[in-house]
Amino acid sequence: MSKLRFKVVEEAFDRKAIPVEIPAERPEQYYGKYVFNRQKMFEYLPKTTYDALVEAIDNKKPLSREVADSVAAGMKQWAIDNGARHYTHWFHPLTDGTAEKHDAFIEHDGKGGVVEQFTGKLLVQQEPDASSFPNGGIRNTFEARGYSAWDISSPAFILDKTLCIPTIFISYTGESLDYKTPLLRALNSVDKAATGVAQYFDPNVKHVNSYLGWEQEYFLVDEALYSARPDLVMTGRTLMGHESAKNQQLEDHYFGAIPSRVEAFMLDLEIECHRLGIPAKTRHNEVAPNQFELAPIFEETNLANDHNLLLMSLIAEVARRHNFRVLLHEKPFSGINGSGKHNNWSLGTDTGVLLFAPGKTPEANLQFITFIANVMAAVYRHNGVLKASIASATNGHRLGANEAPPAIISIFMGTQLSEILDKLEKDDVDEIINLSAKKGLKLNVDQIPEIIIDNTDRNRTSPFAFTGNRFEFRAVGSSANCASAMIALNAAVAEQLMEFKANVDARIANGQDKNHAILSEIKEIIKYSKPIHFDGNGYSDEWKEEAARRGLDCETSVPKIFDAYLSKSSIDMFKSTGVFTEVELEARNEVKWEMYTKKIQIEARVLGDLAVNHVIPVAIRYQSVLTDNVFKLKTLFPNEKGDKLAQLDLDTIERMSAHMATIMEETKKMVNARKAANRIENEREKAIAYHDTVVPCMDVIRYHIDKLELMVDDEMWPLPKYRELLFIR
Ligand code: ADP
Ligand code: MG
Repeated sequence: MSKLRFKVVEEAFDRKAIPVEIPAERPEQYYGKYVFNRQKMFEYLPKTTYDALVEAIDNKKPLSREVADSVAAGMKQWAIDNGARHYTHWFHPLTDGTAEKHDAFIEHDGKGGVVEQFTGKLLVQQEPDASSFPNGGIRNTFEARGYSAWDISSPAFILDKTLCIPTIFISYTGESLDYKTPLLRALNSVDKAATGVAQYFDPNVKHVNSYLGWEQEYFLVDEALYSARPDLVMTGRTLMGHESAKNQQLEDHYFGAIPSRVEAFMLDLEIECHRLGIPAKTRHNEVAPNQFELAPIFEETNLANDHNLLLMSLIAEVARRHNFRVLLHEKPFSGINGSGKHNNWSLGTDTGVLLFAPGKTPEANLQFITFIANVMAAVYRHNGVLKASIASATNGHRLGANEAPPAIISIFMGTQLSEILDKLEKDDVDEIINLSAKKGLKLNVDQIPEIIIDNTDRNRTSPFAFTGNRFEFRAVGSSANCASAMIALNAAVAEQLMEFKANVDARIANGQDKNHAILSEIKEIIKYSKPIHFDGNGYSDEWKEEAARRGLDCETSVPKIFDAYLSKSSIDMFKSTGVFTEVELEARNEVKWEMYTKKIQIEARVLGDLAVNHVIPVAIRYQSVLTDNVFKLKTLFPNEKGDKLAQLDLDTIERMSAHMATIMEETKKMVNARKAANRIENEREKAIAYHDTVVPCMDVIRYHIDKLELMVDDEMWPLPKYRELLFIR
């Protein structure tokens, strides 16, 4: 009998909810307690410093050295008052996740003792020994010179008694080595471009902000069960495991009652989020068993992304307090839903107008249509890059699988908006615009309702959907850094808006009036971007054929999907928006291919080990029990009767042998495929070899292991089964 499996099942079964210490204060009192926000700045900084800092933040200006020193002193005092002993520059390297190196505040006092000190120099810039972070060949290890610099637009916070200072991470030659630098560049670029266009409608607009509201999906697994699954521990997903008889068919989990242990965990997490200024708002069960979601109120994109990264470390920590492990992998269990991270995205002016929300006046609606149409055009032009921005070895299991967005980017608009777009495309500009000097603009399209009523046809199969006042980029993976998607999207839209403005300005220079010029351009881009618009079922096979006919990027191999970043149109787009140079794009792709290879390599090793050292020995043991039984039956019942009675066992023995033989054969093949791939120097070719030759062996091995799981005596099976991982909580 498999002792470990039954021990952990029992342990998991007996667990009770861990009580959560609820703060005595109300949320508005402890919200942001551990964030050096404006209120704390005001309290801890001299008035002149406070004013200078706020001015720098609001107008994206650099800080002088004196101001930085003064900010550092105040920030340190606040941190010490809140129990911090260390500080760190917190940055987002090209691995998904965050990096920190902690330093104590102490400095020599010159008298043999120490003082707790923190200077502006240490606050503003540091040189982490960065040779161990991926850089795609930009920086040679022997001159491991990269530096991190404070991003003043994102407030410092205290996590685990450490003052964390959000920073960008760049090489000394200026290339970005992280996600934050290009994100800030993309946001800057979309701000400028969108402001230029928004000023057609309101000259008072000075800035356009990009907003992000992410929805984080995740699975929880009991800690004891998790520890008995080496595949979960090492790769974050199950590499084997037969579907349980019940999974999500009854759809009884979605929005069902939250189990009590999970509820305690969620409450704990929510309190921690609020203390750190993450506006966590919504929590619920997801479609799959043991799958859940957390969503905050949307925020400015850079801050929202910092908050998501912070959440991803927080959620793991809080889960452990409740004897859970959180799985952020996109596809931890085969056969049931995977996890995504919908990126709800919008643009809004500093005058308070959401640019993707239909307005009340014809002018407002023309502005709305202008921005919607430009998003369509940008997404169409760069659909390959947008797909590349969300592709990864882990998300590859989810995309194109049955419940997830397909590996093709398209936009869902809904019936009402589609009708308006059709009309704008077909009708004559003069018919649409009916100008009279007194009444101002009159748009001859049906009134655009403020709330899109057909919210019900919110198409869940679309990777990029218009949802009333924002777009929802659904293809983003649950473990990803949202910045990747947000960089590509904001940059693509910035490029498109810049071109749009140039074209409209040219028309105006040629004597067209503003509204005619805008509408004429809108007609052109609606026509141009038609192929990206698809409201039908994205999961259907017909769509795959149709999308190929429309010329959309239909590549499904993750290493080849990355190629889109290096296409001419992508290089031009990232260059013209100042987001990436060609060198940066090349370096990043090197990192992407390398990461892909490493992830598959680890999975293949773990699977090989499990197959040969865990599964096969158990199968042989069970086979030997059956063989014994055959001998006994034949001894007890000689001749024909014995033969007949033993037949069942004999069949099973033979079938098991066949499965085992295939597993051994494929494992050998997989090892050889790995060896051959490892000899390839070129990172792209190597990743492709892993995709084409290693992954298929893994699929075959898994298939046969899952068959054995159904045959071997349940008491002997060593690894916790799907029904245990998914239904015990
Ligand atoms: P769903 O029905 O898809 O689960 P919700 O209504 O719960 O979506 O909202 C999902 C997310 O969208 C939330 O994080 C919310 O703050 C965010 N959101 C709402 N409006 C906007 C917007 N204009 N821009 C960006 N995000 C938004
Ligand atoms: Mg959503």
